[in-house]
Amino acid sequence: MDSSARRRPDRNAGPNAYHEDEVTVLTGPSKSAGIEDGKINYEKGEFYTNPPVATCSRRQAVVIIGLILVTLLTCSLIIAFVRPSHCGHVDEGGLDFHEEVAVTAPPEAIATNGEPFPWNDVRLPDSIVPLRYSVVLHPNLTTLFLRGQMEVVFAVQKETNFIVFHGKDVTLTVVMVKDKNMREILTTRTLYYPYHQQIYIELKNYLLPGNNYSLALRYEGMVRTDLEGLYLSSYKAPSGMKRYLVTTHFQPTSARSAFPCWDEPNFKARFKIGAVRQRNYVALSNMPLDNTEDVSIFWGSGLVQDNFHESVAMSTYLVALVVSDYGRIQEVTKTGVTLSIYAPPHMTNQAEFALKAAVKLFDYFQSFFGFSYPLPKLDLISMPDFAAGAMENWGLAVFRESALLMDNNTTSSSAKQRVVLIIAHELAHQWFGNLVTMKWWDDLWLSEGFASFAEYIGVHHIFPEWAMMDQFIHSKTMPALRTDALSTSHPVSVTVADPIEIEAIFDTISYNKGASILYMLQRVLGEEIMRRGLMLYLERHQYGNANMDDLWHALSLGTLNSSHPVPVKDMMDTWTHQLGYPLVTLRRHGNMIHASQKHFLLVNSSAHGANSSHKWHVPLSFTTSAAPNIETQIWMRDPLSLRASDINFEIPMNVSWIKANVNASGYYRVNYEPAIWQALIRVLANQPTTFSPADRAQLIDDAFTLAWAGMLNVTVPLTLSQYLVNETDYLPWSTALTHLRKLDTVLSIRTARRSLHCFVRHLVTPLYSIMGWTTKVPHIQSLLQREILEAAVYFGLSSAVNEARRLFTQWMSGQMQLPPDIRDIVYSTGIKYGGWTEWDYCWQRYKETTVPDERLNFLRALAASNDPWILQQYLDFAMERNSIRVQDIRTVVESVARNPVGSLLVWRQLQTRWNMIEVTFGRASFTIGRLIVAAVSHFHDPLDLKSVQTFFRNVNVGSGKRSLMQSLELIQANINFLSKNDRQLEQWLSRNSPRC
Ligand SMILES: [Zn+2]
Repeated sequence: MDSSARRRPDRNAGPNAYHEDEVTVLTGPSKSAGIEDGKINYEKGEFYTNPPVATCSRRQAVVIIGLILVTLLTCSLIIAFVRPSHCGHVDEGGLDFHEEVAVTAPPEAIATNGEPFPWNDVRLPDSIVPLRYSVVLHPNLTTLFLRGQMEVVFAVQKETNFIVFHGKDVTLTVVMVKDKNMREILTTRTLYYPYHQQIYIELKNYLLPGNNYSLALRYEGMVRTDLEGLYLSSYKAPSGMKRYLVTTHFQPTSARSAFPCWDEPNFKARFKIGAVRQRNYVALSNMPLDNTEDVSIFWGSGLVQDNFHESVAMSTYLVALVVSDYGRIQEVTKTGVTLSIYAPPHMTNQAEFALKAAVKLFDYFQSFFGFSYPLPKLDLISMPDFAAGAMENWGLAVFRESALLMDNNTTSSSAKQRVVLIIAHELAHQWFGNLVTMKWWDDLWLSEGFASFAEYIGVHHIFPEWAMMDQFIHSKTMPALRTDALSTSHPVSVTVADPIEIEAIFDTISYNKGASILYMLQRVLGEEIMRRGLMLYLERHQYGNANMDDLWHALSLGTLNSSHPVPVKDMMDTWTHQLGYPLVTLRRHGNMIHASQKHFLLVNSSAHGANSSHKWHVPLSFTTSAAPNIETQIWMRDPLSLRASDINFEIPMNVSWIKANVNASGYYRVNYEPAIWQALIRVLANQPTTFSPADRAQLIDDAFTLAWAGMLNVTVPLTLSQYLVNETDYLPWSTALTHLRKLDTVLSIRTARRSLHCFVRHLVTPLYSIMGWTTKVPHIQSLLQREILEAAVYFGLSSAVNEARRLFTQWMSGQMQLPPDIRDIVYSTGIKYGGWTEWDYCWQRYKETTVPDERLNFLRALAASNDPWILQQYLDFAMERNSIRVQDIRTVVESVARNPVGSLLVWRQLQTRWNMIEVTFGRASFTIGRLIVAAVSHFHDPLDLKSVQTFFRNVNVGSGKRSLMQSLELIQANINFLSKNDRQLEQWLSRNSPRC
């Protein structure tokens, strides 16, 4: 799955920053068989081109609809009137980040009928292995009922008289078990255990090992509206009519809510999917269509059933089905695979760029992996409502609209890059994740880390001028290092069991750290050995499951014949099983360098001290003044025992500087003794290009972070930053501005803030003068230009602010079109310095535009207002879902929280609307955690910390638990930094900032 929606970290992270079946199916004729505005209405008629074929009795429909409305009304009342549980009874004391947050204790395994549920394990028994499924889904968009049939042929491994499998919010109406001779085996009882989302069927006779049996079910469920499982989505056609579609998102554990199944990644099986639909719709699934049959007698008049070809063996989370009225464009790849992009008919013209990029990436990955894509087709489909960025379902990948569609005239370079990266990510998964899948979610990082790494390799191949591997450092490694510096981080390989725990690891560590340590490994092994190892891994485990040891083994074999065999597992175990990463410190004694390593933590207190026993196999690389272009690598481990250790090495006596972690390719930070820092700062000041852009960026990142952790005087990163007046590369600038904005956030009400703004204006002025607002510069330059313009406006460079305001006025008066690369900056400035008129103008444009990237621009810009009343209205619009989709609530919250004027408003909104947030997203949702981080992690005052601790003391945050702990730790780090450095910052900045 792509993460981009999940992980869009911050504005500084660069561009990379959803019974009665006779009712018609997919007619959705009702004005509102939808979810917009959080309400469901059932007035038939006006929204579909063809009238519905409603064949259920009117009384049945009225009863069903009545029940749904009562349920919704009840929910609404709960949402409206239930106050956060903390109100009125605040516990003594607050929550510390090393304490456990309140969680509901697991209940005893009691089935819904009150009987004990005999299987009390969140994992399924291994006595039965599913082989082939045949699933027919009949989603009814009028009633939101789902009726289905599922038949599975399974093999018995161990004698058993019961079958346990997954089912969530489904009710079985028919259960039949047969042996291979089609003789029925009687069932004695069926039990449901919602806590583990399991169903237990007890049999009269035992099933015998070595034999195959079949289980046939009919069941009822629901078309969901929470962006998980099989859910309802909709879009607005140019005519203004709302069109409905049904789609699926199963990763990690939601296939079970669409059809009963063995919903664990290691239970791979073949799937034959059938979909009942109305005639004027198109159904898509993992495999191409086999045949369509008239099923009006069985399912309802006017309905047909699409039957798709049987799939290859795959995991349940990769099964997909979409039924829509979309159009498509398509091309054929070099190897004859049909690659199509599906979008609403009026938006297929926005898919041209994505299609061309997808074909190039597909051909490249096929060659890179040395393994032919095994399916005859691959569809990429845009989805109006989608919780993640995209999802790699085999043969039918689903994308947010903004991750796939773009208008060449209005889409910025950074948005274009985001589209290509997300496509590359999902295409890489077709091999790494789909063909070979992790055995269990513990190894999620392997799949997501690899795809996050491979997306850069793929895009680098088709756009070599985009400096993708430099951008990798900024968009992957640096965010990972920031999160992994917390004692509340987790090892990439982490034990998880239930859906809440599984959902929680779709995070920066699994994606970004996973990608970063694989990049480091590639630098050690070499690109070709790495690629051959990957090919061997895919070849050996095709259509199966593997764990990380299987990958290390395949990669090790690739090095056996080389002159430097690498004990890959020994090395990588230190990076995957341990939380965090090392800080390598270099000290010089004459011509000797002593390199020591220690677990790096941002908050280094006795209660959360660094784990001194943590050591890593660090491939320490360095360059010196004697040979700035020659990289030397030394292992930080004992050569005999191969245990990680500190080391000493020699350098020529006359070198004036040494710089470690060349090109920031290693997943570690470096500190130096003061004399070496001073020497490095001198090089940056006099001859900055002695170091590569990645090296310059890394010096900035390490210096600021070490100062934040109290390990380096804060004047070091500030002094170092002075060289930026001569800096002209994207990577160092984007890195520095990340830190300077963070500094601005914590200084928001401090005296030093004014001096900081003068300092940054001084730094950006030279480059601003050169670049200005003229666009149509090469891609990487346009990314740099955006950084400079945003910073110039943000830090109040008057010439930049005035020009942005002038451009906004001209645009608003209809005198000009704004170039795509600068329009969001102009929108934000116009809104920041404008009032209600300017805000409402942009709000109306947001509601009108059909271009996904433009919608995103407005969503973010609308949060830039300086007026608390406007910001409060905006937050209310988002929470009440007036014109803002559920998937976009997080974007609004994050954007307003970044605005110093809106920061506390967001925190207040989160507290007062907590119950609504919980109902909307669910506890087993990654979104909860993201909202918490967005709302509070930038706090820097002890009173605000206390407020967060107090509110969450009695709140069950589900999957957001770790995010909450991390936020508390980040707040503590901010408080520590300010208390230590406030005065020194003020003195240094006032002394070194030009008058302004
Ligand atoms: Zn992914």
